[in-house]
Amino acid sequence: MSKTIQSIRGMHDILPEQTPAWQYLESTVRDLLAGYGYQEIRMPIVEMTELFARSIGEVTDIVEKEMYTFEDRNGDSLTLRPEGTASCVRAGIQHGLLHNQQQRLWYMGPMFRHERPQKGRYRQFHQIGVETFGIEGPDIDAELIMLTARLWRRLGISDVRLEINSLGSLEARAAYRERLVDYLRGHQDVLDEDSRRRLETNPLRVLDSKNLAMKDVIAGAPQLLDHLDAESVAHFEGLKQRLDTAGIVYVVNPCLVRGLDYYSRTVFEWITESLGAQGTICAGGRYDGLVEQLGGRATTAAGFAIGLERLLALLEEHGRLPSPVAPHVYLVTFGERAEREGLLLAERLRNVLPGLRLVMNCGGGSFKAQMKRADRSAAELALILGEDEVDAGEIGVKFLRREEDQRRFSQDQLEAFLRAQCFTAPSA
Ligand code: ATP
Ligand code: MG
Repeated sequence: MSKTIQSIRGMHDILPEQTPAWQYLESTVRDLLAGYGYQEIRMPIVEMTELFARSIGEVTDIVEKEMYTFEDRNGDSLTLRPEGTASCVRAGIQHGLLHNQQQRLWYMGPMFRHERPQKGRYRQFHQIGVETFGIEGPDIDAELIMLTARLWRRLGISDVRLEINSLGSLEARAAYRERLVDYLRGHQDVLDEDSRRRLETNPLRVLDSKNLAMKDVIAGAPQLLDHLDAESVAHFEGLKQRLDTAGIVYVVNPCLVRGLDYYSRTVFEWITESLGAQGTICAGGRYDGLVEQLGGRATTAAGFAIGLERLLALLEEHGRLPSPVAPHVYLVTFGERAEREGLLLAERLRNVLPGLRLVMNCGGGSFKAQMKRADRSAAELALILGEDEVDAGEIGVKFLRREEDQRRFSQDQLEAFLRAQCFTAPSA
């Protein structure tokens, strides 16, 4: 036998036993966002490579070493999207959705990054992204944070903490960058190799290092928060006040810088201690310069992305995953006449009871084999249709999950019985 082909490292199948959890998460988020007036947008998974280089930044981890980039048959350089914001902005500009108007948008789907696979870190992973455009004040930053707080409540998650920071304006950040570089140069000997490289390319990222040996140097570094422009200070104060009055607890983390270049002013992360090193389940902030940077007319913007694999892992940790949806009934038939009759009966029942989850035994089998399948399906009831029942115009009903005698109904009685069992409303 030849070797079987496996999925690509870091890219996972989501199996039938796992899809109920995904669907639950997706529908919860969809309902919640509708409650805030956000509309869904769906973008292609592949974009021109230049889009990400121009938005995320040439010297970020993502663009330097994590992108799945390839040449298509025309010789164009294409990239599997590593995140959604750039695509969303591209689509917004292309379709005239951004200029002189406000937008509240969201999307959901797979993202691709060539990282070292480990718990909570994959090469294909899924995000829900939320982006707003044309709203300048801290009110929208607060709304974004409040709606994520509501999502955690709805999902029954409590052990997440909110960290916020302000990156200020581009100019304030450029001035601060020089001070930071001066300071870090004075501590070259303590910096690890990554940080020495970043010192030249992206010094703010040094503050984000998880290397404990550099902890003291980082703690002693000048803080961006002390070097903000007046407008950014006022914006940040405005956000903090709104979170305070909404009763949302946060910590200001002056070292929170985010890995993407396009952020300005507010940045935030929701972090849990329950998942180990990969504890950030949601990250976002303002990116007022990005639309213009990508060729659109200057438009303020703010958004965030949730990592769904991490959120699901957290739900599992809390025992908050929904149980799989079982069928209500499993229809067992014997003999060709009953099987043909059964197919029609099943359709008639689905016509009159739209919420009914009915599995028809297909592929024949002995009574024992069919009842075994019925049991394995986790259905509540087995409907039994044999030659006798067909002749009498009746159907047998066997209770699979409780001690109760088998019964026999006419078709009309069966419908009323199933209705009384509440097998009628479509499941959410
Ligand atoms: P990290 O610091 O964990 O690498 P990041 O700053 O690269 O995260 P973002 O680009 O802001 O992450 O993406 C938003 C969210 O998407 C993250 O907070 C995380 O939950 C999730 N995420 C990012 N990369 C991955 C990945 N490789 N596998 C699984 N989830 C991921
Ligand atoms: Mg990353």
